[in-house]
Amino acid sequence: MYDYLIVGSGLYGSVVARELKDAGKSVLVIDKRQNIAGNVYTEKIENIHVHKYGAHIFHTNNKEVWDYVTRFIEFNRFTNSPVANYKGELYSLPFNMYTFNKMWGVVTPEEAAAKIAEQRKAAGITEPKNLEEQAISLVGTDIYEKLIKGYTQKQWGRPCSELPSFIIKRLPVRLTFDNNYFNALYQGIPVGGYTKLVANILDGIEVRLGVDYLENKSEFDAMADKIVYTGAIDAYFDYQLGNLEYRSVRFENEILDMPNFQGNAAVNYTDAETPWTRIIEHKWFEFGKDDEGNDIPKTVISREYSSEWKPGDEPYYPVNDEKNSALYEKYKELAAKEEKVIFGGRLGEYKYYDMDAVIASALACVKTLV
Ligand code: UDP
Repeated sequence: MYDYLIVGSGLYGSVVARELKDAGKSVLVIDKRQNIAGNVYTEKIENIHVHKYGAHIFHTNNKEVWDYVTRFIEFNRFTNSPVANYKGELYSLPFNMYTFNKMWGVVTPEEAAAKIAEQRKAAGITEPKNLEEQAISLVGTDIYEKLIKGYTQKQWGRPCSELPSFIIKRLPVRLTFDNNYFNALYQGIPVGGYTKLVANILDGIEVRLGVDYLENKSEFDAMADKIVYTGAIDAYFDYQLGNLEYRSVRFENEILDMPNFQGNAAVNYTDAETPWTRIIEHKWFEFGKDDEGNDIPKTVISREYSSEWKPGDEPYYPVNDEKNSALYEKYKELAAKEEKVIFGGRLGEYKYYDMDAVIASALACVKTLV
């Protein structure tokens, strides 16, 4: 018997497990995959830590969370600044003075602001109701057409006019020459990879891999007083109200016999025709160096293809539109009746969570438990 069974060894599950263990509780962590770390899992290929379930860049303004993660691992000084490739034209991201200069030839912040205001006015948007209107009112029509429209429709498989505007609010707009994608005080990549970070968080905690909770639910339920479930909430209830929609991603990984493919960790392909959304070149998250600090002669790239999720696929991004949010609320009502079970994390709460927010939410959850 354990005090807690934690289903899922991603960031949420690992942090909850660590905190409960440190509070004197007995815990068992299980995961249906053969590896820990959920979607932040990294695997060493050609001495490069490859982000197997999509690129993750840790960034936060939450000092408590930063202090927490840096207890377990050192972070490097990586700063995310993706490049947008629109039909061979390259633009700086996030949208900043370099982007505006390349797009319009404007030189001063005043000229850039005037250009955006002019395009917003021409589009006649006062209160943005969806992502398209939000984007145009933030950065104008040209940037929307070249850098947002195609990318977003590929990523979400829906027209921008049918997507919620909050998605685009993740992207900062700056009238300065600052290519740092995130407005965050703290940023970096764990030295040695995310798998090592999670392994360190789980140090001394019993973990069983390759076991499926939902397939042997009653057996597992009998093993612990309480369950922390971080899998998909609709799967927990056997999709009885219908399935929540996700976007999934397919990765085509390639090892290339060259030291430098694209010169940056992330290049977004923002036109509608290129079938992939972006290409990640993993070595640049670590400045092209291996764990010993040597230059790496080869490179590993991943092309990302966004796809509609169907049962059996890996769920990546919750689609928090009106329809799915309403369905999630119904599942949440069912979840409230499961007295033994706590639902948490990106899949358990059906939430487009950043890593720092997941950790903050896991820490807050444990405070209510102990
Ligand atoms: N986005 C865009 N063009 C880009 C990059 C992002 O239009 O070149 C928009 C797009 O709608 C996307 C959102 O910004 O869904 C958030 O992008 P981000 O790269 O932050 O998403 P993530 O890294 O979580 O996949």
